[in-house]
Amino acid sequence: MGGQFRVGIIGGGTGGLCLAQALRKAGVSVAVYERSGVRSDRLQGYRVHINPKGAAALHECLPSDQWRAFVDTCGSPGGAFGFVDEQFKDLLVIEDDVTSGAERDPARSHHSVSRITLHQVLSAGLADVLHLDKEFERYERAEDGTVTCHFADGTTATADVLVGADGANSRVRRQYLPEARRIDTGIRAIAGKLPLTDEVQRWLPRRMQDGPNNVLPPSGCGMFMAPHDLSDSLLSAAANSVGGNDESARLGLHFDNTTSYLMWAYAANQDAFSCGATQLSTLDGSGLRDLAGRQVAGWHPDLRRMVAETPGETVTLLPIRTSVPVNQWDTTNVTVLGDAIHSMTPFRGIGANTALRDAQLLARNLIDAAEGGRELLAAIRDYETQMIDYGFAAVRLSLRTAEQTVSNNRLGRSMFKFALRVFTLVPPLKRKVFADLGND
Ligand SMILES: Cc1cc2nc3c(=O)[nH]c(=O)nc-3n(C[C@H](O)[C@H](O)[C@H](O)COP(=O)(O)OP(=O)(O)OC[C@H]3O[C@@H](n4cnc5c(N)ncnc54)[C@H](O)[C@@H]3O)c2cc1C
Repeated sequence: MGGQFRVGIIGGGTGGLCLAQALRKAGVSVAVYERSGVRSDRLQGYRVHINPKGAAALHECLPSDQWRAFVDTCGSPGGAFGFVDEQFKDLLVIEDDVTSGAERDPARSHHSVSRITLHQVLSAGLADVLHLDKEFERYERAEDGTVTCHFADGTTATADVLVGADGANSRVRRQYLPEARRIDTGIRAIAGKLPLTDEVQRWLPRRMQDGPNNVLPPSGCGMFMAPHDLSDSLLSAAANSVGGNDESARLGLHFDNTTSYLMWAYAANQDAFSCGATQLSTLDGSGLRDLAGRQVAGWHPDLRRMVAETPGETVTLLPIRTSVPVNQWDTTNVTVLGDAIHSMTPFRGIGANTALRDAQLLARNLIDAAEGGRELLAAIRDYETQMIDYGFAAVRLSLRTAEQTVSNNRLGRSMFKFALRVFTLVPPLKRKVFADLGND
């Protein structure tokens, strides 16, 4: 089939909205069906790192006004990336000019963006195609090949192409590819946000305010920290424009979209938490914060203070799950993108970037088919072939990084730290090894 067709997207998250923007811009008929009306999922409260591939996808898919709004509402890109030990001693500092962090074209740069802001930007201008409060339940294929979606409110919608962009627990995937599985790694992360108030900025080490840092203790756990600094962003002045607070702000500080903060995440295997795996899932935000405080009891005082002064309402437990790579399936007019097919651990910060890359590629191919450049199924097939390749490569890389972070192999960790110190001593080697840092 070439020519005119209707695309139905289940899920108005990062990937689904980006795809919808690109199709709409090209004049392809599209409708998005999103389960929720308000972004109250706790994950929404945290920042997302957009890498140059994600930025390029946004630049290509968004109308120019929305792209500008994205750039204007990002936090500062952040400076050097540091590896430190638990006493906050430097192991390696990777300066901006070593990586593409020095790149000034926003379409090829790194960005720190609030998830809420990103969704506001991605939703802008889609009022006529974005249907909220539409919880997808199942689809049915008719003899003429069209796909009819059934929603929890009893309504239906029909499309010629169905895209499952409904995230890690995708119902589209479960129906379409029941063999595709998602498993628990046994790793748990506790994440929190320390607001960067004037008082906090006085005692928090400059390095923690200026760029991301990875803490590497001797073994068994790790911590990642990254500032989301809005002092140069339009958001610092905005209260209720694009990128300002939305309805979710009434749920508390965690959803306040206009305040600068330092995000931290402590990770270990669930049985390495002092309270035991069972009790871990029963703790509220303050309980999780205090537990994280006990886990880092022997660490540098500033790291302990960072945890201790984090408001409990911003602290969340993240069970770390991953998809299991699957072989390519027979292509039809139903397909999937983003976490719906290749959900990954957050340890490389690339899940959203990969979902954006999917949206960019699928949009290009569908637009080509709509313009008669190739058959529709050939366009979807080509998308799936490439997506399965790079998507599951990202899954494997993220899982390996997660396992290394919580590994009990002290010797392996010591050797890694030794290698980091060697890179510090041999700058050309550092440049060669880390030129692509964050560009996975
Ligand atoms: C702590 C943490 C930090 C992360 N940090 C980063 C980072 O820095 N950089 C990065 O690239 N990635 C990061 N990720 C990963 C990133 O969040 C995801 O990979 C990304 O959001 C996936 O986008 P998506 O569009 O596939 O799914 P989502 O953004 O999850 O969107 C799915 C949408 O589908 C909707 N939906 C679900 N079910 C239904 C249904 N039945 N009917 C209708 N709608 C439905 C949901 O409400 C949601 O809006 C992080 C993840 C975590 C957990």
